[in-house]
Amino acid sequence: MSRKRVNVLRTSTASMKKCDVAIAGGGVIGGAIALELARAGLRVCVFDRQKPGQEASWASAGIISPAPENPGMIATVELGKRSAALYPEFVALVEEISGQSTGYRRKGTLETIFSHDAKAELSTIIALHHGLGLEAEPLRAEDARELEPALSDELEAAVLRPGEASIDNRLLTAAVFEAAQRSGAEILPARRVKGIWRDGARCRGLLVGNEKVEAPRTVIAAGCFSGMIEGVSAYAPVKPAKGQMIALRADNLNIERVLWSEKVYLVPRNDGRILAGATVEYVGFDKRVTAGGIEKILAAAIELAPGLKDARIEETWAGLRPDSADHLPILGPTDLEGLLVATGHFRSGILLTPVTARLIREWITEQKVSVDWERFSPLRFLSAAARTSHRTPA
Ligand SMILES: Cc1cc2nc3c(=O)[nH]c(=O)nc-3n(C[C@H](O)[C@H](O)[C@H](O)COP(=O)(O)OP(=O)(O)OC[C@H]3O[C@@H](n4cnc5c(N)ncnc54)[C@H](O)[C@@H]3O)c2cc1C
Repeated sequence: MSRKRVNVLRTSTASMKKCDVAIAGGGVIGGAIALELARAGLRVCVFDRQKPGQEASWASAGIISPAPENPGMIATVELGKRSAALYPEFVALVEEISGQSTGYRRKGTLETIFSHDAKAELSTIIALHHGLGLEAEPLRAEDARELEPALSDELEAAVLRPGEASIDNRLLTAAVFEAAQRSGAEILPARRVKGIWRDGARCRGLLVGNEKVEAPRTVIAAGCFSGMIEGVSAYAPVKPAKGQMIALRADNLNIERVLWSEKVYLVPRNDGRILAGATVEYVGFDKRVTAGGIEKILAAAIELAPGLKDARIEETWAGLRPDSADHLPILGPTDLEGLLVATGHFRSGILLTPVTARLIREWITEQKVSVDWERFSPLRFLSAAARTSHRTPA
């Protein structure tokens, strides 16, 4: 072999990036996992195809509520409760290490009821909450309006969930990455992950551009784009669920808590902005803000808090939630040794950030987890696909 050839080989081996854990995707999920693992003493690399934190984690409303919005979400209540309970400690840690604020507000949320059968609806909602071990108090309309004078006169009743919170997800994501980096994680922007590096039944790392990154553990956390990474779609068949949002500013109107109606939520931020959202649309990877989307949100927001009709519109945007066929998160190891998935958080990714990071770290460092996550296994899609093909006549 010529001398020149030997040198080339040496250089390519020497330049192959190696880490203990390679993470594909730098949203809040990938960032929080990196922080936990770096603090556990592991060498972590996070690859993002752009600047981290510019997708769903930036577009979110940042509500931290484990209460189910519909019966399909009951399956995540326990996970959500665990994550919400971890939040104060998580925020304190992130703020302390990063030196940055996250805009965490633990001021409660108020679910409003406008129906004529409000009494029956109220007792059903309260019973459901208590059955799930969630704190919730029934309120008469006048008591709710005393707490939140911005609420409409048409209100019939409300449910107060005093322990719930919200966070400025843009600040949180930036602070998480700063904290992860200060804890030793390597954050690599503008590095698109093409695929996993598969070697038989093992995942040996990631294929990033034309480079191989070697890691005994690989975590896929690329949000709604995860399924586009080669070799991953069977474990993370996610699709984007677009959400449009509006930021309002009102001079003579104060909202303290997160307010919900059936059609909209309003989320006050520490900087005085009031976020209103959100649509849920299945239109592919399209992030355009539309007249119809904005009209729907504004009409519902003004119905809930009529004083908002004089508010200024400061910003509009849209983002893509990572949704799965059963709308549940996709968490845990796969049948490829070394490959884990952490995505599919749909409408609850900010809520579920601390518990996701905790469970992935526990699995990687202890090979066991403190919450049963079987239900969220990436393998459930493989068995669903196998069942379907079994039923299909030849
Ligand atoms: C309008 C809206 C409102 C929401 N409101 C709430 C809420 O109130 N409460 C709540 O809990 N959740 C909410 N969510 C959901 C929450 O925002 C998401 O579940 C969460 O942000 C998902 O985080 P993620 O890190 O998985 O994905 P993302 O933030 O989308 O990050 C994925 C990252 O992967 C990167 N990436 C993609 N492909 C590649 C590749 N091939 N190589 C390298 N990098 C790649 C992207 O650039 C991106 O940075 C909302 C979402 C939206 C859109």
